[in-house]
This record gives sequence, structure tokens and C-alpha cells, in this order.
Amino acid sequence: MRVSTDKSSGSDSRLFTVVVESYGVGQQRQAERRFTVSFDRLQSLMQSIARNGGRIRVVSSGPQPAASEAASPTEAAAPPLAPAEPSSKPAEQPQAEPAPSIAKPAAPSVSHAEVPVNLYKPKDPFIGTVLGNYSLLADGAIGRVNHITFDLAGGDPLLHYVEGQSIGIIPDGTDANGKPNKLRLYSIASTRHGDDLADHTVSLCVRQLEYEKDGQIIHGVCSTFLCDIQPGAKVKITGPVGKEMLLPDDEEANIIMLATGTGIAPMRAYLRRMFDPSERDTNGWHFRGKAWLIMGVPKTANLLYDDDFNRYESEYPDNFRYNKAISREQQNAKGGRMYIQDRVLEHADEIFTLIEDPKTHVYMCGLRGMEPGIDEAMTAAAAAKGINWSELRPQLKKAERWHVETY
Ligand SMILES: Cc1cc2nc3c(=O)[nH]c(=O)nc-3n(C[C@H](O)[C@H](O)[C@H](O)COP(=O)(O)OP(=O)(O)OC[C@H]3O[C@@H](n4cnc5c(N)ncnc54)[C@H](O)[C@@H]3O)c2cc1C
Repeated sequence: MRVSTDKSSGSDSRLFTVVVESYGVGQQRQAERRFTVSFDRLQSLMQSIARNGGRIRVVSSGPQPAASEAASPTEAAAPPLAPAEPSSKPAEQPQAEPAPSIAKPAAPSVSHAEVPVNLYKPKDPFIGTVLGNYSLLADGAIGRVNHITFDLAGGDPLLHYVEGQSIGIIPDGTDANGKPNKLRLYSIASTRHGDDLADHTVSLCVRQLEYEKDGQIIHGVCSTFLCDIQPGAKVKITGPVGKEMLLPDDEEANIIMLATGTGIAPMRAYLRRMFDPSERDTNGWHFRGKAWLIMGVPKTANLLYDDDFNRYESEYPDNFRYNKAISREQQNAKGGRMYIQDRVLEHADEIFTLIEDPKTHVYMCGLRGMEPGIDEAMTAAAAAKGINWSELRPQLKKAERWHVETY
């Protein structure tokens, strides 16, 4: 891990803790060693670690002594710039209660082996029945976005799923080559119990694709098929698929959610699982962590499930926070349009403080175009804390704490 050494003029005494693996040479090599140094001395420590063959595992802000070192806080905080000197502590000495630090692996997520996948495949899809289809948008909104619910009853096996998965829809009809239409994936917007808690329905949040080509308005095949579909219609459904966006089992996890448009679908499922009273009674999962949704849309009228989220926020003020970036109505600090990455930058310090907690997971979902902006914002936010985001992100991903599904 590399740490940005950018600094403003003058000395910088902010403290950083660096945890190093395989430090030292020969018999003096230690499995783990921890240094606390000021920002001013960070770079020379890095060089010294490299000379001694150490691998940097974590860099976090502030002094983070291991419990065995905590009795001597002065020593823990002193810049140990004689790193070749071996510690008198045996390498294997257990460290009590690890200090909270960025990129520390979280408690295990939901067991992936138990997550259902591909119960129904394109060659033999499940035939579901549409139970409901309504617009999620208010007057004056741009485009069409609908909430559509399907009945899955009678399937053998039952097409069941967990929050964060997707299903495939095979629209009726044929493509331009006269072949049957291919499936499109949609993130599931309901909890595993379904909106009516009957345990055999699934709901989607679908935006009708619309774009202009050669002066003509083109509508997407499957999204139009779904937005137009009537209750009672039969639909070919495949899946479920996907293990990228699963929620952790831990009721005390912190969940940061960054969504644009229909990227809200999995987040809506998470938030119902966390805060909807009937759902909580049914699922027996009593979330006690912090959930934070940052949602990006073009106009207020395009906010999705907004009433539900406002209600959760008023009922669970200590557990849920909801911020909106409404690009065509709000301005960012520079006077430009307010996008989700501007909100991320505004709250950078709090976001990174949360990320330092190993119980924190970040979920990003929406159009693929949102990724570079978020990445830029995270890079700037991390740099303000002396952290290199491009090196931290893969570590978070490896620890199953950084979840992205964009399309
Ligand atoms: C994991 C996953 C989850 C998803 N979840 C959701 C969801 O929850 N909700 C949702 O609405 N969608 C979701 N999608 C997207 C969905 O699968 C479809 O891609 C989308 O609905 C469009 O399908 P369509 O059949 O309507 O469009 P199609 O008829 O297949 O048209 C799409 C094609 O149109 C062309 N095209 C698109 N835009 C333009 C443009 N601006 N200019 C020129 N050409 C263009 C491209 O060639 C593109 O491949 C998800 C996708 C994935 C992979």
C-alpha cells in the first residue's frame, strides 16, 4: 500500500499507524509489526520498511496500538524510525482486540454456498404471472420507471432468492434476426419474503430504455416489454443469479449505499429488510448498525421509493441516514450540477471514518457511468486522509466489503 505524501507547506504532525507483515530479515523476521508515525515521517518509514522486506498491510489514521503495546502509549506513539531493530516480542504473540483499521477483513458475509443460483435457466425458464405494475415516478419526472411484481408460486423448485441477487427476464417476441429474444438481467427490488411477505413473489424496478438514433426515438426491447406489461400476463423468468451484492449477516454491520436511478433496486430490498416493520417481524433479522443511502436522480420527481426511505429515517434516526443528489435542481460547491459523487465528497470524512470500521460495507449500483465519478471522489476523499484509494479499493474488495453492480 502506498500512501500519498502530498502535504501542504509546514510540518504535519497527524499520526498514522502502519501495520507491516514479514518485517525484518532472517531469524529476526516478524509476522507483524506496527508503527505509529507522524505524517512528516511516513515517507522515510515506508522506505525503511521496503529496505527490510516488509509488506504494508494497513495504513490507518491515528495511533492504533495493539493491546499488548497499549500499556506503553508513549512507545506506541513514538516514531520508531529505527525499523531494522527487532522487537523483543515473539512474532506469534497474539494481539488482543485489533485496532479498527481500514481494509481489515470484515466478519464473514452471508455464506455464499447457501445462496441459490440458476434454479431456472434460459432453456427451461419459470413462467411467472404479473401481479402488479405501477409507475414509481411523480408528475414532471423524466422517462418511465415502474415497480413490477411477479408471482412465483407453483415452481418446482420454488424460485427463491436473497437480497442483492438478480433475475433474468426473457421478453416475448423475436429479435431483428427473427430469433427468440434473449434474456436481460434485473436487480431484485424485494426482500426474499416478497413485498407481500408471502414468500413467493419477486419485484423489480425497471426503467424504460429510451434513446435517440438518427433522429428516431428508440425504446429498449425488454424494458418496454416490462413497463407495458399487464397484471395476469405470463413472463419467462430465469435465475436467480449474483453473489456480488449480498448483505452481510451481521446485524451490526454498517452499510453505505451509493445508488443512481434503478440502482436503488437492491438497496430498496436491503432497507426493507432492515427497517420495514412487517418485514422485520417476519425475517427475525434485527439490524442495529448504520445504514446510509446516497441516492442520485435528475429531478425530485424521479426519486424512487422516497416516502419509504423518509419514513425509515424518521423512525430509525440513529440507524438510517438518507442523502439525495438531484442533479438538475441542486448545485454542488462549484456551482455545477449536484451528482452523487459531489455528495460523496461532501461527506468524505465521515465516509472514510466509517470505512475504517471493519464492519462497514459499501454498495454501489446503477448505470456504469457513475463509476468514474465515484472513484474520483473516493480518491480525493482518501488522499485527504493520507490514503491511496487505488490501493485500498482492491483490499476492500478482497475483504468483501466493496460491492459494485453497474450496467
Ligand atoms: C446485473 C444487472 C442488473 C440490472 N438491473 C437493472 C434494474 O434493476 N433495472 C433496470 O431498469 N435495468 C437493469 N439492468 C439493465 C437491463 O438488463 C437492460 O440492459 C435494460 O433494461 C435495457 O434492456 P432493453 O432490452 O430494454 O434494451 P435493448 O433493446 O437490449 O437495447 C439496449 C441496447 O441499445 C443500445 N443503446 C442503449 N443506449 C443507447 C444510446 N444512448 N445510444 C445508442 N445506443 C444505445 C445499446 O446497443 C444497448 O446494448 C441490469 C443489468 C444488469 C447486467
